[in-house]
Parts: sequence; C-alpha cells; structure tokens
Amino acid sequence: MHALDWHLVNSAEVEAWPARLLRPRANADARALARARWCLRRKRDGRFLAAFDDAGRLHALQPGLAREPGVGEALSALHALHERAGEALFLPLDGLLGHLAALGLDEAYGERTGLPLVAEPARLEFAGFDRYRRPLWLLAPAARAWRRMQAAARDAGVALEAISGYRSHAYQLGIFERKLARGLTVEQILAVNAAPGYSEHHGGCAIDIGCPGEPPAEESFEATPAFAWLREHAGGFGFAMSYPRGNPHGIVYEPWHWCWHPAGKDD
Ligand SMILES: [Zn+2]
Repeated sequence: MHALDWHLVNSAEVEAWPARLLRPRANADARALARARWCLRRKRDGRFLAAFDDAGRLHALQPGLAREPGVGEALSALHALHERAGEALFLPLDGLLGHLAALGLDEAYGERTGLPLVAEPARLEFAGFDRYRRPLWLLAPAARAWRRMQAAARDAGVALEAISGYRSHAYQLGIFERKLARGLTVEQILAVNAAPGYSEHHGGCAIDIGCPGEPPAEESFEATPAFAWLREHAGGFGFAMSYPRGNPHGIVYEPWHWCWHPAGKDD
C-alpha cells in the first residue's frame, strides 16, 4: 500500500478508509472493495457509502449517494491528503454541540466533571491491529509512540495489546441513542458512559491497553506484568494513566486507559 493509504481521513459525517483495511459485511460490498483503494463510510452507523478504485472512479455502494450529507466534504479532505495540502489538525466542534444540546447536556457537565471537550483529528494514522484484528487509529505522533512502546515491552518479554484507540463523536452518540431508545435516561447512561465529546478517545491519543488472556477493561489488569511494566516505562514514551484511583473527574479507576501527551505537557 502507498504511504498515504495508512491514514483514516476524517470529516464531520463521513470517514475515508483505506479499502484494504475494511472487512465487508455484504458480498456486493466485498466485490467493490476488492478493487477499491478508498472507501467512504458513514460515521453514524458505519455503512459503506462509496468505493474509489486506483483510477479515481467512484462506485456508489448506497442509493441516493448524491444526497448523502458530508460526502462532498469527505472527498475534499481525501483530495487534500493526496495533494498534501491543508494540514487541518482537528475538526470543528459545532456539529457535536448541537447533538449535546439535544441531549440536554450543557457546559455544566464539563464543569462538574472537569473534563474538556475533545475535538476529533482530521487525519489519523494506522497504528497496527488491536486485539480483535481491527485497525487501531491514532494521531500520528501517538501512533509512533505506541509502536515504539509496544516493541520495547516485547523486547522485555511483555506483550501489550491495544483494545481500543480513536473513537468518533458519532460512535459515542450512537451508544447514547441506542440506550435512550431502550428507555434509559441521560443520567443513567452517564453513570456508565462518558458524554459524547468528552472521552479522551476522541482525540486519537488515548489507548485502552490489555494483555493476552486478560479480560478487556477490567480492574484486574493492575495485577498483570504488563501493567507493572507500563507503570515503570510508559512515561518514557509519553504515556500517562488518565484515571488513577481517586481521580478528580469522578471516573472509576481505569488501569487500562493510557493517554499520550506531547513532550513538555506531561504532569
Ligand atoms: Zn479508555
């Protein structure tokens, strides 16, 4: 694959994925993706919208593609990647703010938790595969730091697995919409899930880390050699544990959740 094809090109409603990294769910999609270089994917539900082949030909995978919101914006972002133009680092937050208002979430949530709103990166870099063989997407410097840290741990006989990296606002909104549809209140959902826009995973720098044989995202991770290694060495790669016991955000202890911070901004 070309170097550019190891990127996820992000825009408000639609993501452009390197087609070879997608697992099609339908046979018709599989045939189109086998010949494609890029695939446009609706962020809200993960539906494949269109495929591009190497000659730049567009193949619609959904009816009504011309009316699909955000496709034009996604095509511009993909074009900018190939032109190496417009190094837009983060997407604006306006779409998210409308969704939060609809959920009745205003700035009081941020004040109560001390959590900032987290913008999505305009581009993410492939950082290897996660435990479930899904592509792991991270902000470019975080992806490089993760690869270096994982290799150093491997050299020390410690296997680190990524469980989850970048997640979109749309993904988190989808969790809320499904739970609201089942009759839960926003308060009940917030007891378990971060509000959309407030998760560190949106920024492409946070990773949930696990190790073979250990269930994902459980406190028992703190008793593993992998956790002991991270406590000792992760700081040297720019990673810090975001939610230790008694953290000021009221978030439960998450020994698996680590975030990469640019040099000089570590605590
Ligand atoms: Zn996490």
